[in-house]
Amino acid sequence: MSNVVTRFAPSPTGHLHIGGARTAIFCWLLARHYGGQFHLRIEDTDLLRSKQEYTDSILASMRWLGLDWDGPLNYQTQRTELYNSYVDRLLETGHAYWCSCTPEEVEAMREHARAHGLKPRYDGRCRDKNLGPGEGRCVRLRIPQTGKVVFDDMVKGKIAVDVSELDDMVIRRADGMPTYNMAVVVDDHEMGITHVIRGDDHVSNTPRQILIYEALGLPVPRFGHVPMILGPDRQKLSKRHGARAVIEYQRDGLLPQALVNYLVRLGWSHGDQEIFTQEELIRFFDGSNLNPAAAAFDPAKLEWCNAHFMREMPLAELAALTRPFVEEAGLSRHGRPLEDGECETLCGMFRERSANLKDLAHSFAPLLTEAAELTYDEKAAAKNLTEASRAHLAALSGVFGACASFTAPELEAALNAYVSDNGLKFKDVAPALRTALMGFMGGPHLPEIMAFLGREETLARLERAARA
Ligand code: GLU
Repeated sequence: MSNVVTRFAPSPTGHLHIGGARTAIFCWLLARHYGGQFHLRIEDTDLLRSKQEYTDSILASMRWLGLDWDGPLNYQTQRTELYNSYVDRLLETGHAYWCSCTPEEVEAMREHARAHGLKPRYDGRCRDKNLGPGEGRCVRLRIPQTGKVVFDDMVKGKIAVDVSELDDMVIRRADGMPTYNMAVVVDDHEMGITHVIRGDDHVSNTPRQILIYEALGLPVPRFGHVPMILGPDRQKLSKRHGARAVIEYQRDGLLPQALVNYLVRLGWSHGDQEIFTQEELIRFFDGSNLNPAAAAFDPAKLEWCNAHFMREMPLAELAALTRPFVEEAGLSRHGRPLEDGECETLCGMFRERSANLKDLAHSFAPLLTEAAELTYDEKAAAKNLTEASRAHLAALSGVFGACASFTAPELEAALNAYVSDNGLKFKDVAPALRTALMGFMGGPHLPEIMAFLGREETLARLERAARA
């Protein structure tokens, strides 16, 4: 396929949510796969609910996700004249007409239809009145009286809608503003869009938009309507399910590549591969294998996916991404910010145990306090700091104190020697040592902890616990 042009067209009435983000990712990938273009259009015609801060937030989320767009940003509110020039064209060719029916009259027609068990629709009474413009008049599309609108949806397959299901829709309101469907068709045509991928809440708009394309004599793009993302209980997705705006995931320390990977897999597959590099996504995503069944959001899988990318990425990169979260958590070492090397060491020690960057940063806390301030988990202290084990800690303080280089391998060898020389088992000393060093029964390998803490701090912790 040559010349694929897609677009993402958010309404700035809120932050970018994961459903919208997935649509954007699909559109972006399709364009990148075919070496085409991806456009961004801000559908800000709802003047009451649209806000600049949401546009800014959507753009920031797009950038964070790595979804770069081609060409200028388009705002629908800046294009009213353009839309109306197309409405004029339809009036000139007889594909549209002026209508003087008041909203009350139209509502009465709908009521009448409903009362007779028919689909509520405008009855076309102004079709042949040959009205011109005037106060309170709107413009309607003259749709065919018979036939079907048929299209081959990229996700749902063939869709056919009988025109009797539709009516002569308003394309320009009495206040002079174009309607949503009119604006979208003009925009998609002007921007040269070849593939419209969007949420399936728009599928009922598509036959109407196709009728506008046909009336204008314009080529109709391909459509793909992706099903909604459901909650884990297969009900409408909500905050309760952990579904949040992209910006909230960012604040929580998720990696953008993990969110992208997870969202792409919600509704698209490539065999049973779960983890993709960006290059692989671009290579494999050709618009096929889009799943018509709604997928359920699974927070645990998203977390798994994030943990995977955290584990696999270069440490220096992970450390750079984690640093802002360390600062946000107010963590420092001896009253100064962590050095790059320290941050990397800590990331290496804790990344296997953290689901996101925020958790990762917080997990450093026990290693960044002073011995006297370390808090002990009460249960761990009661269970592990017994008289016998405290005696071992006092002895170990001497053993480790005698280590010349204080590196993890040296400390490990010293610990092993202490255990075997005294006819002990590892479990006779390890829980006490861990409680003394971390304050609780968690964390990385003991020799690594000690090497990071350094001689003075390690011995201070052992001595404090030995006295406890
Ligand atoms: N502005 C619409 C929305 O946010 C998108 C419409 C479209 O993609 O055609 O739902």
